Amino acid sequence: MRIENCSPAIIRGLITQLQDAIYVLTDHKVIYANEKMLALLETTEAELEGELLLSFVDDESRDIVEERYRRRVRGEFVPNEYNIVMRTTSGKRKYVRNHVAAFTDEDGTQVVIGSMKDITDVEVVKRDLAASQQQQEEMRFIDANYDKLTGLGNRVNLLNQIKLEMRSRDEIALLNVGFTGIREINDNVGYNVGDHLIKSMARRLRTVIDESEIVARVTGVQFGILVNLHVYERVNELIEEISRLFKRSFVTQHGKYYLNVYIGISIYPSDATDEFEVLSHAHSALTHAKSEGPLNWAFFDEALNVRAGTRLQMQADLRDAIKNEEFELFYQPKLSTVDQKFVGAEALIRWNKPGVGYIAPDLFIKHAELSDLILPIGNWVMREACQQAKNLRELGYDDFAIGINISAKQFAAGDLCETLKTTLSLLKVPARYIDLEVTETVYLDMKEGVSDQINELRALGVSLSIDDFGTGYSSLSYLQSLTFDALKIDQTFVSKLPGQPSDLNLVKAILNMSKALSLKVVAEGVETEEQLRILKEEGCDICQGYYFSRPLPASDFLTWLKEHDN
Ligand code: C2E
Ligand code: CA
Ligand code: CA
Repeated sequence: MRIENCSPAIIRGLITQLQDAIYVLTDHKVIYANEKMLALLETTEAELEGELLLSFVDDESRDIVEERYRRRVRGEFVPNEYNIVMRTTSGKRKYVRNHVAAFTDEDGTQVVIGSMKDITDVEVVKRDLAASQQQQEEMRFIDANYDKLTGLGNRVNLLNQIKLEMRSRDEIALLNVGFTGIREINDNVGYNVGDHLIKSMARRLRTVIDESEIVARVTGVQFGILVNLHVYERVNELIEEISRLFKRSFVTQHGKYYLNVYIGISIYPSDATDEFEVLSHAHSALTHAKSEGPLNWAFFDEALNVRAGTRLQMQADLRDAIKNEEFELFYQPKLSTVDQKFVGAEALIRWNKPGVGYIAPDLFIKHAELSDLILPIGNWVMREACQQAKNLRELGYDDFAIGINISAKQFAAGDLCETLKTTLSLLKVPARYIDLEVTETVYLDMKEGVSDQINELRALGVSLSIDDFGTGYSSLSYLQSLTFDALKIDQTFVSKLPGQPSDLNLVKAILNMSKALSLKVVAEGVETEEQLRILKEEGCDICQGYYFSRPLPASDFLTWLKEHDN
Protein backbone atom coordinates (compact mmCIF):
# COMPACT_ATOMS: atom_id res chain seq x y z
CA MET A 1 0.00 0.00 0.00
CA ARG A 2 1.34 3.38 -0.94
CA ILE A 3 0.34 6.93 -0.02
CA GLU A 4 0.53 7.81 -3.71
CA ASN A 5 -2.69 5.86 -4.04
CA CYS A 6 -4.37 8.71 -2.18
CA SER A 7 -5.31 11.91 -3.95
CA PRO A 8 -4.55 15.25 -2.24
CA ALA A 9 -8.27 15.48 -1.44
CA ILE A 10 -8.14 12.19 0.39
CA ILE A 11 -5.05 13.26 2.28
CA ARG A 12 -6.77 16.52 3.22
CA GLY A 13 -9.81 14.57 4.45
CA LEU A 14 -7.51 12.26 6.42
CA ILE A 15 -5.81 15.11 8.15
CA THR A 16 -9.13 16.74 9.05
CA GLN A 17 -10.27 13.43 10.51
CA LEU A 18 -7.34 13.34 13.00
CA GLN A 19 -8.04 14.24 16.62
CA ASP A 20 -4.65 15.86 17.10
CA ALA A 21 -3.37 19.27 16.05
CA ILE A 22 -1.01 18.86 13.11
CA TYR A 23 1.68 21.17 11.79
CA VAL A 24 4.41 21.11 9.18
CA LEU A 25 7.53 23.24 9.41
CA THR A 26 10.27 23.97 6.97
CA ASP A 27 13.18 25.92 8.35
CA HIS A 28 11.13 26.11 11.59
CA LYS A 29 8.48 28.14 9.86
CA VAL A 30 4.92 26.93 9.67
CA ILE A 31 3.89 25.95 6.17
CA TYR A 32 0.83 24.04 7.22
CA ALA A 33 -1.44 23.71 10.28
CA ASN A 34 -4.78 21.94 10.55
CA GLU A 35 -7.92 23.36 12.13
CA LYS A 36 -7.18 21.75 15.49
CA MET A 37 -3.74 23.36 15.52
CA LEU A 38 -5.22 26.78 14.74
CA ALA A 39 -7.78 26.28 17.49
CA LEU A 40 -5.08 25.21 19.96
CA LEU A 41 -3.10 28.37 19.40
CA GLU A 42 -6.24 30.51 18.97
CA THR A 43 -4.99 31.83 15.70
CA THR A 44 -5.83 31.87 11.98
CA GLU A 45 -4.13 30.38 8.94
CA ALA A 46 -3.15 33.86 7.77
CA GLU A 47 -1.60 34.73 11.11
CA LEU A 48 0.32 31.51 11.49
CA GLU A 49 1.63 30.85 8.03
CA GLY A 50 5.33 31.58 7.67
CA GLU A 51 5.74 32.21 11.43
CA LEU A 52 8.36 30.54 13.59
CA LEU A 53 6.52 28.00 15.70
CA LEU A 54 9.04 28.82 18.45
CA SER A 55 7.35 32.19 18.90
CA PHE A 56 4.25 30.33 20.21
CA VAL A 57 6.27 28.38 22.74
CA ASP A 58 5.85 29.65 26.33
CA ASP A 59 8.97 31.00 28.07
CA GLU A 60 8.84 28.06 30.44
CA SER A 61 9.56 25.62 27.60
CA ARG A 62 11.66 27.77 25.29
CA ASP A 63 15.00 26.50 26.57
CA ILE A 64 13.94 22.90 26.17
CA VAL A 65 12.79 23.43 22.60
CA GLU A 66 15.92 25.32 21.58
CA GLU A 67 18.15 22.72 23.18
CA ARG A 68 16.27 19.96 21.32
CA TYR A 69 16.74 21.87 18.09
CA ARG A 70 20.51 22.25 18.59
CA ARG A 71 20.84 18.56 19.37
CA ARG A 72 18.93 17.65 16.24
CA VAL A 73 21.24 19.84 14.14
CA ARG A 74 24.28 18.14 15.69
CA GLY A 75 22.74 14.81 14.83
CA GLU A 76 22.42 13.80 18.52
CA PHE A 77 19.58 11.78 19.92
CA VAL A 78 16.35 13.66 20.51
CA PRO A 79 13.25 11.97 21.91
CA ASN A 80 10.42 12.44 19.45
CA GLU A 81 7.81 12.92 22.09
CA TYR A 82 7.89 15.36 24.97
CA ASN A 83 5.71 17.80 26.94
CA ILE A 84 5.99 21.53 26.46
CA VAL A 85 3.96 24.62 27.25
CA MET A 86 2.58 26.71 24.34
CA ARG A 87 1.13 30.18 24.61
CA THR A 88 -1.96 31.12 22.58
CA THR A 89 -2.40 34.50 20.90
CA SER A 90 -4.67 35.51 23.79
CA GLY A 91 -1.94 34.63 26.27
CA LYS A 92 -3.31 31.33 27.65
CA ARG A 93 -0.82 28.64 28.57
CA LYS A 94 -1.48 25.24 27.06
CA TYR A 95 0.27 22.09 28.15
CA VAL A 96 0.80 19.89 25.12
CA ARG A 97 2.26 16.54 24.33
CA ASN A 98 4.38 17.25 21.27
CA HIS A 99 5.22 14.49 18.84
CA VAL A 100 7.83 15.32 16.20
CA ALA A 101 9.22 13.63 13.10
CA ALA A 102 12.00 15.36 11.15
CA PHE A 103 13.37 14.52 7.72
CA THR A 104 15.10 16.12 4.78
CA ASP A 105 13.02 16.63 1.67
CA GLU A 106 14.17 15.58 -1.85
CA ASP A 107 15.34 19.15 -2.50
CA GLY A 108 17.36 19.21 0.75
CA THR A 109 15.01 21.30 2.93
CA GLN A 110 14.57 20.33 6.61
CA VAL A 111 10.98 19.30 7.17
CA VAL A 112 9.34 18.78 10.57
CA ILE A 113 5.97 17.15 10.84
CA GLY A 114 4.49 17.41 14.25
CA SER A 115 1.36 16.77 16.19
CA MET A 116 0.26 18.21 19.51
CA LYS A 117 -2.23 16.90 22.01
CA ASP A 118 -3.71 19.37 24.51
CA ILE A 119 -3.12 17.95 27.97
CA THR A 120 -3.69 21.18 29.91
CA ASP A 121 -6.39 19.73 32.20
CA VAL A 122 -4.36 16.70 33.16
CA GLU A 123 -1.30 18.85 33.72
CA VAL A 124 -3.06 21.32 35.99
CA VAL A 125 -4.39 18.49 38.10
CA LYS A 126 -0.91 17.01 38.28
CA ARG A 127 0.61 20.33 39.33
CA ASP A 128 -2.01 20.79 42.04
CA LEU A 129 -1.20 17.35 43.21
CA ALA A 130 2.49 18.12 43.32
CA ALA A 131 1.78 21.30 45.26
CA SER A 132 -0.33 19.47 47.80
CA GLN A 133 2.32 16.78 48.01
CA GLN A 134 4.85 19.45 48.76
CA GLN A 135 2.56 20.80 51.43
CA GLN A 136 2.13 17.37 52.89
CA GLU A 137 5.90 16.95 52.87
CA GLU A 138 6.13 20.19 54.79
CA MET A 139 3.50 19.05 57.25
CA ARG A 140 5.31 15.76 57.69
CA PHE A 141 8.53 17.66 58.28
CA ILE A 142 6.85 19.86 60.87
CA ASP A 143 5.32 16.84 62.60
CA ALA A 144 8.66 15.08 62.68
CA ASN A 145 10.67 18.06 63.90
CA TYR A 146 8.43 20.22 66.05
CA ASP A 147 6.46 19.77 69.23
CA LYS A 148 2.75 20.46 68.76
CA LEU A 149 2.05 21.66 72.29
CA THR A 150 4.80 24.26 72.64
CA GLY A 151 5.79 24.92 69.04
CA LEU A 152 9.40 24.33 70.02
CA GLY A 153 11.69 21.99 68.12
CA ASN A 154 11.51 18.41 69.34
CA ARG A 155 14.19 15.84 70.13
CA VAL A 156 14.88 15.02 66.46
CA ASN A 157 15.23 18.69 65.69
CA LEU A 158 17.54 19.23 68.65
CA LEU A 159 19.77 16.35 67.60
CA ASN A 160 20.03 17.84 64.11
CA GLN A 161 20.87 21.24 65.52
CA ILE A 162 23.53 19.78 67.79
CA LYS A 163 25.03 17.99 64.80
CA LEU A 164 25.10 21.21 62.78
CA GLU A 165 26.66 23.21 65.59
CA MET A 166 29.26 20.52 66.20
CA ARG A 167 30.55 21.12 62.68
CA SER A 168 30.95 24.84 62.98
CA ARG A 169 31.81 25.50 66.63
CA ASP A 170 34.78 24.59 68.76
CA GLU A 171 32.66 24.02 71.79
CA ILE A 172 28.98 23.68 72.56
CA ALA A 173 27.01 22.91 75.69
CA LEU A 174 23.67 21.23 76.10
CA LEU A 175 21.55 21.93 79.15
CA ASN A 176 18.94 19.30 79.81
CA VAL A 177 16.31 21.04 81.91
CA GLY A 178 13.86 18.84 83.80
CA PHE A 179 11.08 19.39 86.29
CA THR A 180 9.44 17.51 89.10
CA GLY A 181 6.01 18.11 90.48
CA ILE A 182 4.04 18.08 87.27
CA ARG A 183 3.07 14.44 87.52
CA GLU A 184 1.15 15.15 90.71
CA ILE A 185 -0.57 18.02 88.93
CA ASN A 186 -1.57 15.78 86.02
CA ASP A 187 -2.85 13.17 88.45
CA ASN A 188 -4.70 15.59 90.68
CA VAL A 189 -6.15 18.28 88.46
CA GLY A 190 -5.87 16.75 85.03
CA TYR A 191 -3.79 16.93 81.91
CA ASN A 192 -5.20 20.27 80.76
CA VAL A 193 -3.52 22.04 83.62
CA GLY A 194 -0.38 19.98 83.03
CA ASP A 195 -0.35 21.00 79.36
CA HIS A 196 -0.92 24.60 80.28
CA LEU A 197 2.07 24.47 82.62
CA ILE A 198 4.29 22.89 79.99
CA LYS A 199 3.42 25.71 77.62
CA SER A 200 4.26 28.26 80.30
CA MET A 201 7.56 26.52 80.98
CA ALA A 202 8.42 26.73 77.29
CA ARG A 203 7.54 30.42 77.27
CA ARG A 204 9.68 31.09 80.31
CA LEU A 205 12.62 29.21 78.90
CA ARG A 206 12.37 31.15 75.65
CA THR A 207 12.82 34.37 77.58
CA VAL A 208 16.25 33.39 78.93
CA ILE A 209 17.95 32.32 75.74
CA ASP A 210 20.03 34.45 73.40
CA GLU A 211 19.44 34.73 69.68
CA SER A 212 22.13 32.21 68.83
CA GLU A 213 20.78 29.67 71.33
CA ILE A 214 18.11 27.08 70.79
CA VAL A 215 15.50 25.70 73.14
CA ALA A 216 13.69 22.47 72.30
CA ARG A 217 11.29 20.12 74.07
CA VAL A 218 13.04 16.80 74.44
CA THR A 219 10.20 14.78 76.00
CA GLY A 220 7.39 15.35 78.51
CA VAL A 221 8.76 17.86 80.99
CA GLN A 222 12.29 17.92 79.67
CA PHE A 223 13.74 20.68 77.61
CA GLY A 224 17.11 21.13 75.94
CA ILE A 225 19.01 24.38 75.59
CA LEU A 226 21.85 24.49 73.13
CA VAL A 227 24.60 27.01 73.84
CA ASN A 228 27.19 27.69 71.17
CA LEU A 229 29.10 30.81 72.27
CA HIS A 230 31.02 31.67 75.46
CA VAL A 231 29.99 28.26 76.58
CA TYR A 232 31.05 28.12 80.26
CA GLU A 233 30.09 31.69 81.00
CA ARG A 234 26.66 31.20 79.49
CA VAL A 235 26.05 27.88 81.22
CA ASN A 236 26.60 29.54 84.57
CA GLU A 237 24.36 32.45 83.67
CA LEU A 238 21.64 30.15 82.40
CA ILE A 239 21.70 27.96 85.52
CA GLU A 240 21.17 31.06 87.62
CA GLU A 241 18.52 32.57 85.42
CA ILE A 242 16.55 29.38 84.98
CA SER A 243 16.64 28.60 88.70
CA ARG A 244 15.44 32.11 89.45
CA LEU A 245 12.74 31.91 86.82
CA PHE A 246 11.25 28.74 88.27
CA LYS A 247 11.20 29.96 91.85
CA ARG A 248 8.12 31.89 90.74
CA SER A 249 4.85 30.04 90.90
CA PHE A 250 2.71 29.19 87.90
CA VAL A 251 -0.78 30.51 88.23
CA THR A 252 -3.61 28.55 86.66
CA GLN A 253 -7.33 28.69 87.15
CA HIS A 254 -6.94 25.79 89.58
CA GLY A 255 -4.43 27.57 91.73
CA LYS A 256 -0.75 28.28 92.08
CA TYR A 257 1.89 25.66 91.43
CA TYR A 258 5.56 25.48 92.22
CA LEU A 259 7.80 23.17 90.28
CA ASN A 260 11.32 22.05 91.03
CA VAL A 261 13.76 22.57 88.21
CA TYR A 262 16.91 20.48 87.59
CA ILE A 263 19.62 20.97 85.02
CA GLY A 264 22.13 18.49 83.59
CA ILE A 265 24.93 19.78 81.38
CA SER A 266 27.20 18.11 78.87
CA ILE A 267 29.89 19.80 76.82
CA TYR A 268 31.10 18.89 73.34
CA PRO A 269 33.84 17.84 72.64
CA SER A 270 35.05 17.13 76.17
CA ASP A 271 32.08 14.98 77.24
CA ALA A 272 30.78 13.51 74.02
CA THR A 273 31.72 12.48 70.51
CA ASP A 274 28.41 12.79 68.68
CA GLU A 275 25.02 14.46 69.02
CA PHE A 276 23.44 11.41 70.65
CA GLU A 277 26.06 11.35 73.35
CA VAL A 278 25.72 15.08 73.92
CA LEU A 279 22.04 14.55 74.67
CA SER A 280 22.30 11.33 76.64
CA HIS A 281 25.15 12.63 78.76
CA ALA A 282 23.27 15.81 79.58
CA HIS A 283 20.43 13.52 80.60
CA SER A 284 22.67 11.41 82.86
CA ALA A 285 23.81 14.62 84.51
CA LEU A 286 20.17 15.66 84.96
CA THR A 287 19.30 12.35 86.62
CA HIS A 288 22.28 12.84 88.88
CA ALA A 289 21.25 16.36 89.82
CA LYS A 290 17.75 15.13 90.63
CA SER A 291 18.69 12.15 92.73
CA GLU A 292 21.87 13.13 94.51
CA GLY A 293 21.50 16.83 95.23
CA PRO A 294 22.28 19.08 97.00
CA LEU A 295 22.45 21.39 93.98
CA ASN A 296 19.79 21.45 91.32
CA TRP A 297 22.35 21.14 88.54
CA ALA A 298 25.23 18.86 87.59
CA PHE A 299 27.81 18.58 84.86
CA PHE A 300 28.26 15.25 83.13
CA ASP A 301 31.07 13.11 84.33
CA GLU A 302 32.04 9.73 82.90
CA ALA A 303 31.61 8.04 86.26
CA LEU A 304 27.93 8.99 86.17
CA ASN A 305 27.28 6.65 83.33
CA VAL A 306 28.83 3.76 85.14
CA ARG A 307 26.75 4.63 88.18
CA ALA A 308 23.59 4.88 86.08
CA GLY A 309 24.34 1.41 84.74
CA THR A 310 24.68 -0.04 88.20
CA ARG A 311 21.59 1.84 89.30
CA LEU A 312 19.48 0.20 86.62
CA GLN A 313 20.98 -3.18 87.45
CA MET A 314 20.22 -2.57 91.10
CA GLN A 315 16.59 -1.81 90.33
CA ALA A 316 16.24 -4.95 88.27
CA ASP A 317 17.81 -6.98 91.10
CA LEU A 318 15.50 -5.40 93.66
CA ARG A 319 12.48 -6.34 91.58
CA ASP A 320 13.70 -9.93 91.55
CA ALA A 321 14.37 -9.77 95.26
CA ILE A 322 10.75 -8.81 95.92
CA LYS A 323 9.47 -11.56 93.66
CA ASN A 324 11.79 -14.21 95.13
CA GLU A 325 11.26 -13.08 98.73
CA GLU A 326 14.93 -12.45 99.40
CA PHE A 327 14.37 -9.94 102.21
CA GLU A 328 14.63 -10.74 105.91
CA LEU A 329 13.75 -8.67 108.90
CA PHE A 330 16.29 -8.47 111.74
CA TYR A 331 15.44 -7.14 115.19
CA GLN A 332 17.56 -5.03 117.49
CA PRO A 333 16.35 -4.81 121.13
CA LYS A 334 15.63 -1.54 122.86
CA LEU A 335 16.10 -1.49 126.62
CA SER A 336 15.04 0.78 129.39
CA THR A 337 18.16 2.62 130.56
CA VAL A 338 17.33 2.45 134.25
CA ASP A 339 16.73 -1.26 134.66
CA GLN A 340 17.58 -2.64 131.24
CA LYS A 341 14.13 -4.11 130.82
CA PHE A 342 13.15 -5.08 127.29
CA VAL A 343 10.85 -2.36 125.93
CA GLY A 344 10.84 -3.10 122.23
CA ALA A 345 12.88 -3.76 119.13
CA GLU A 346 13.64 -1.99 115.90
CA ALA A 347 12.94 -3.98 112.75
CA LEU A 348 15.83 -3.63 110.30
CA ILE A 349 15.70 -5.04 106.82
CA ARG A 350 18.41 -7.23 105.28
CA TRP A 351 18.67 -8.45 101.72
CA ASN A 352 19.83 -12.02 101.62
CA LYS A 353 20.98 -12.13 98.03
CA PRO A 354 21.73 -15.61 96.65
CA GLY A 355 25.43 -16.00 95.96
CA VAL A 356 26.22 -12.71 97.71
CA GLY A 357 24.97 -12.95 101.28
CA TYR A 358 23.44 -10.28 103.49
CA ILE A 359 23.34 -6.79 102.05
CA ALA A 360 22.91 -3.86 104.44
CA PRO A 361 19.99 -1.48 103.88
CA ASP A 362 22.30 1.50 103.38
CA LEU A 363 23.27 -0.09 100.08
CA PHE A 364 19.80 -0.57 98.65
CA ILE A 365 17.11 1.45 100.44
CA LYS A 366 18.04 4.60 98.54
CA HIS A 367 17.66 2.77 95.21
CA ALA A 368 14.37 1.32 96.36
CA GLU A 369 13.18 4.81 97.24
CA LEU A 370 14.23 6.28 93.91
CA SER A 371 12.39 3.62 91.95
CA ASP A 372 9.29 3.49 94.20
CA LEU A 373 10.09 -0.15 94.93
CA ILE A 374 10.18 0.98 98.56
CA LEU A 375 6.38 0.77 98.49
CA PRO A 376 6.07 -3.01 98.05
CA ILE A 377 9.17 -3.48 100.23
CA GLY A 378 7.76 -1.21 102.93
CA ASN A 379 4.48 -3.12 102.91
CA TRP A 380 6.34 -6.37 103.31
CA VAL A 381 8.30 -4.96 106.28
CA MET A 382 5.06 -3.82 107.84
CA ARG A 383 3.45 -7.27 107.58
CA GLU A 384 6.53 -9.05 108.92
CA ALA A 385 6.91 -6.64 111.82
CA CYS A 386 3.22 -6.91 112.74
CA GLN A 387 3.49 -10.69 112.62
CA GLN A 388 6.49 -10.49 114.99
CA ALA A 389 4.50 -8.29 117.38
CA LYS A 390 1.79 -10.92 117.33
CA ASN A 391 4.34 -13.66 118.13
CA LEU A 392 5.76 -11.74 121.08
CA ARG A 393 2.31 -11.14 122.42
CA GLU A 394 1.52 -14.81 122.18
CA LEU A 395 4.75 -15.51 124.09
CA GLY A 396 3.39 -13.37 126.91
CA TYR A 397 5.14 -10.04 126.28
CA ASP A 398 2.93 -7.03 126.66
CA ASP A 399 4.86 -3.84 127.32
CA PHE A 400 6.74 -3.42 124.08
CA ALA A 401 6.57 -1.90 120.59
CA ILE A 402 8.18 -3.02 117.36
CA GLY A 403 9.78 -0.08 115.58
CA ILE A 404 9.28 0.13 111.83
CA ASN A 405 11.31 2.53 109.65
CA ILE A 406 9.11 4.49 107.26
CA SER A 407 10.40 6.30 104.16
CA ALA A 408 9.18 9.65 102.95
CA LYS A 409 7.96 7.93 99.78
CA GLN A 410 5.60 5.82 101.84
CA PHE A 411 4.02 8.98 103.21
CA ALA A 412 3.88 10.49 99.76
CA ALA A 413 1.96 7.45 98.45
CA GLY A 414 -0.88 8.53 100.74
CA ASP A 415 -2.22 5.13 101.81
CA LEU A 416 0.18 4.37 104.66
CA CYS A 417 -2.42 4.54 107.40
CA GLU A 418 -4.93 2.51 105.46
CA THR A 419 -2.40 -0.24 104.72
CA LEU A 420 -1.24 -0.39 108.32
CA LYS A 421 -4.81 -0.51 109.58
CA THR A 422 -5.65 -3.39 107.27
CA THR A 423 -2.52 -5.30 108.22
CA LEU A 424 -3.14 -4.86 111.93
CA SER A 425 -6.75 -5.95 111.71
CA LEU A 426 -5.95 -8.96 109.52
CA LEU A 427 -3.42 -10.17 112.07
CA LYS A 428 -5.53 -9.00 115.01
CA VAL A 429 -2.67 -6.97 116.49
CA PRO A 430 -3.50 -3.88 118.58
CA ALA A 431 -1.89 -0.72 117.21
CA ARG A 432 -0.03 0.08 120.42
CA TYR A 433 2.51 -2.66 119.65
CA ILE A 434 3.75 -0.70 116.67
CA ASP A 435 6.05 2.33 116.66
CA LEU A 436 6.80 4.13 113.42
CA GLU A 437 10.27 5.62 113.06
CA VAL A 438 10.11 8.62 110.80
CA THR A 439 13.20 10.69 110.07
CA GLU A 440 13.41 14.28 111.04
CA THR A 441 13.60 15.30 107.39
CA VAL A 442 10.24 13.71 106.63
CA TYR A 443 8.75 15.80 109.40
CA LEU A 444 10.51 18.88 108.12
CA ASP A 445 9.36 18.38 104.54
CA MET A 446 5.93 17.79 105.83
CA LYS A 447 3.29 19.08 103.52
CA GLU A 448 -0.30 19.32 104.67
CA GLY A 449 -1.04 15.83 103.35
CA VAL A 450 1.61 14.32 105.57
CA SER A 451 0.50 16.02 108.76
CA ASP A 452 -3.04 14.76 108.10
CA GLN A 453 -1.62 11.28 107.83
CA ILE A 454 0.33 11.69 111.04
CA ASN A 455 -2.90 12.60 112.79
CA GLU A 456 -4.66 9.63 111.26
CA LEU A 457 -1.87 7.34 112.43
CA ARG A 458 -2.08 8.72 115.93
CA ALA A 459 -5.82 8.18 115.89
CA LEU A 460 -5.15 4.58 114.87
CA GLY A 461 -3.12 4.20 118.06
CA VAL A 462 0.44 3.57 116.86
CA SER A 463 3.26 5.56 118.44
CA LEU A 464 5.62 7.75 116.45
CA SER A 465 9.35 8.39 116.89
CA ILE A 466 11.58 10.93 115.25
CA ASP A 467 14.55 9.04 113.84
CA ASP A 468 18.10 10.35 113.34
CA PHE A 469 17.41 13.33 115.52
CA GLY A 470 20.06 16.03 115.27
CA THR A 471 21.01 15.38 111.65
CA GLY A 472 18.33 17.65 110.23
CA TYR A 473 17.51 21.18 111.21
CA SER A 474 14.52 20.92 113.50
CA SER A 475 14.07 23.90 115.68
CA LEU A 476 12.70 23.62 119.16
CA SER A 477 9.60 25.60 118.46
CA TYR A 478 8.94 23.51 115.42
CA LEU A 479 9.19 20.29 117.37
CA GLN A 480 6.71 21.62 119.85
CA SER A 481 4.07 21.97 117.19
CA LEU A 482 4.40 18.34 116.16
CA THR A 483 2.85 15.35 117.75
CA PHE A 484 5.07 12.36 118.38
CA ASP A 485 6.07 10.19 121.31
CA ALA A 486 9.80 9.68 121.20
CA LEU A 487 12.95 11.10 119.76
CA LYS A 488 15.92 8.96 118.73
CA ILE A 489 19.27 10.68 119.21
CA ASP A 490 21.35 9.89 116.17
CA GLN A 491 24.21 7.51 116.77
CA THR A 492 26.78 10.01 115.54
CA PHE A 493 26.20 11.97 118.78
CA VAL A 494 26.18 8.90 121.00
CA SER A 495 29.34 7.47 119.45
CA LYS A 496 31.24 10.65 120.36
CA LEU A 497 30.62 10.13 124.06
CA PRO A 498 32.36 10.72 126.37
CA GLY A 499 34.53 12.86 124.02
CA GLN A 500 34.81 16.65 124.38
CA PRO A 501 32.65 18.62 126.80
CA SER A 502 30.84 20.07 123.79
CA ASP A 503 29.77 16.59 122.64
CA LEU A 504 28.35 15.82 126.05
CA ASN A 505 26.67 19.21 126.24
CA LEU A 506 24.90 18.60 122.98
CA VAL A 507 23.43 15.32 124.22
CA LYS A 508 22.49 16.98 127.51
CA ALA A 509 20.74 19.77 125.63
CA ILE A 510 18.71 17.31 123.58
CA LEU A 511 17.71 15.43 126.74
CA ASN A 512 16.69 18.58 128.60
CA MET A 513 14.69 19.85 125.69
CA SER A 514 12.88 16.53 125.32
CA LYS A 515 11.97 16.52 129.01
CA ALA A 516 10.51 19.99 128.61
CA LEU A 517 8.41 18.69 125.74
CA SER A 518 7.53 15.47 127.63
CA LEU A 519 9.14 13.29 124.99
CA LYS A 520 10.78 9.94 125.55
CA VAL A 521 14.39 9.78 124.36
CA VAL A 522 16.00 6.77 122.74
CA ALA A 523 19.79 6.70 122.32
CA GLU A 524 20.93 4.81 119.24
CA GLY A 525 24.31 3.17 118.72
CA VAL A 526 25.21 2.58 122.35
CA GLU A 527 28.40 0.54 122.13
CA THR A 528 30.14 0.89 125.49
CA GLU A 529 29.43 0.64 129.18
CA GLU A 530 30.75 4.18 129.55
CA GLN A 531 28.21 5.50 127.07
CA LEU A 532 25.42 3.68 128.88
CA ARG A 533 26.56 5.15 132.21
CA ILE A 534 26.54 8.71 130.86
CA LEU A 535 23.14 8.31 129.26
CA LYS A 536 21.71 6.89 132.49
CA GLU A 537 23.18 9.79 134.44
CA GLU A 538 21.66 12.32 132.08
CA GLY A 539 18.25 10.71 132.23
CA CYS A 540 17.95 9.08 128.79
CA ASP A 541 14.97 6.73 128.84
CA ILE A 542 15.83 4.00 126.35
CA CYS A 543 19.03 2.63 124.82
CA GLN A 544 19.71 0.60 121.74
CA GLY A 545 23.07 -0.57 120.41
CA TYR A 546 25.73 -3.19 119.94
CA TYR A 547 26.50 -3.04 123.65
CA PHE A 548 23.28 -5.00 124.23
CA SER A 549 22.85 -6.71 120.94
CA ARG A 550 23.40 -6.37 117.25
CA PRO A 551 20.30 -6.63 115.04
CA LEU A 552 19.41 -10.35 115.02
CA PRO A 553 17.53 -12.69 112.71
CA ALA A 554 14.03 -13.43 114.06
CA SER A 555 14.89 -16.79 115.64
CA ASP A 556 18.10 -15.49 117.28
CA PHE A 557 16.15 -12.52 118.55
CA LEU A 558 13.67 -14.79 120.31
CA THR A 559 16.56 -16.74 121.84
CA TRP A 560 18.14 -13.48 123.00
CA LEU A 561 14.86 -12.44 124.59
CA LYS A 562 14.52 -15.69 126.52
CA GLU A 563 18.08 -15.44 127.81
CA HIS A 564 17.66 -11.78 128.66
CA ASP A 565 14.61 -12.53 130.80
CA ASN A 566 16.45 -15.12 132.86
P1 C2E B 1 18.51 3.59 111.32
O1 C2E B 1 17.03 3.62 111.34
O2 C2E B 1 19.23 4.74 111.94
O3 C2E B 1 18.93 2.24 111.99
C1 C2E B 1 19.93 2.11 112.91
C2 C2E B 1 21.15 1.60 112.26
O4 C2E B 1 22.23 1.64 113.19
C3 C2E B 1 21.04 0.15 111.84
O5 C2E B 1 21.79 -0.01 110.65
C4 C2E B 1 21.70 -0.59 112.98
O6 C2E B 1 22.23 -1.84 112.59
C5 C2E B 1 22.82 0.36 113.33
N1 C2E B 1 23.26 0.18 114.69
C6 C2E B 1 22.55 -0.25 115.76
N2 C2E B 1 23.31 -0.26 116.86
C7 C2E B 1 24.53 0.18 116.52
C8 C2E B 1 25.76 0.38 117.25
O7 C2E B 1 25.86 0.19 118.42
N3 C2E B 1 26.81 0.87 116.54
C9 C2E B 1 26.73 1.12 115.20
N4 C2E B 1 27.83 1.58 114.60
N5 C2E B 1 25.61 0.94 114.49
C10 C2E B 1 24.51 0.47 115.16
P2 C2E B 1 21.20 -0.79 109.46
O8 C2E B 1 20.41 -1.95 109.94
O9 C2E B 1 22.31 -1.01 108.53
O10 C2E B 1 20.17 0.21 108.85
C11 C2E B 1 20.60 1.35 108.27
C12 C2E B 1 19.46 2.23 107.88
O11 C2E B 1 18.65 1.62 106.88
C13 C2E B 1 18.50 2.47 109.03
O12 C2E B 1 19.02 3.45 109.80
C14 C2E B 1 17.26 2.88 108.30
O13 C2E B 1 17.32 4.24 107.93
C15 C2E B 1 17.33 2.06 107.04
N6 C2E B 1 16.43 0.91 107.15
C16 C2E B 1 16.64 -0.26 107.75
N7 C2E B 1 15.55 -1.05 107.64
C17 C2E B 1 14.63 -0.34 106.97
C18 C2E B 1 13.28 -0.61 106.55
O14 C2E B 1 12.69 -1.65 106.81
N8 C2E B 1 12.63 0.37 105.86
C19 C2E B 1 13.23 1.55 105.58
N9 C2E B 1 12.55 2.46 104.91
N10 C2E B 1 14.50 1.84 105.96
C20 C2E B 1 15.18 0.89 106.65
CA1 CA C 1 15.42 3.71 112.65
CA1 CA D 1 18.49 6.21 113.31
